[in-house]
Amino acid sequence: MTELQRLYPDDKTCAMHLERARWPDGFCCSHCGAPGAPYRSTTRPSVLRCRACRKDNRLAVGTVMEGSHLPLRLWCWAAHLVWDRPDLSAAELQRQLGLSRYATAWMMGNHLRARVAALGADRVAAADPHACLSLLGRATGD
Ligand SMILES: [Zn+2]
Repeated sequence: MTELQRLYPDDKTCAMHLERARWPDGFCCSHCGAPGAPYRSTTRPSVLRCRACRKDNRLAVGTVMEGSHLPLRLWCWAAHLVWDRPDLSAAELQRQLGLSRYATAWMMGNHLRARVAALGADRVAAADPHACLSLLGRATGD
């Protein structure tokens, strides 16, 4: 098992880490502002439904993942690889992710590198193995 598979074995685990990265103090609905644990779907782990207003909070909204149909797992893997090596080529990213299409790896790499550049000095060498998820965070605060 590779480090990527250990850190991000499935979409459910990825969703849990992304939720924690986005709401370090606990989930808070972006629609109504209500705090408290949301409804979590096992079939759609990227969607958190507010218990107060029942609206969906999508983990991808406002992030590089928005509009993509790729599983969360692949985004987390890609973020981890690009975090470690921002100069990683699209061909290498494609190989490591096991993607069939070069264009997909190229798109992911471009989005993630732009986030690396945007974070700049904030992209510190953190001991947290999930620090790479800051690349999958919102580009603008909410
Ligand atoms: Zn709400």
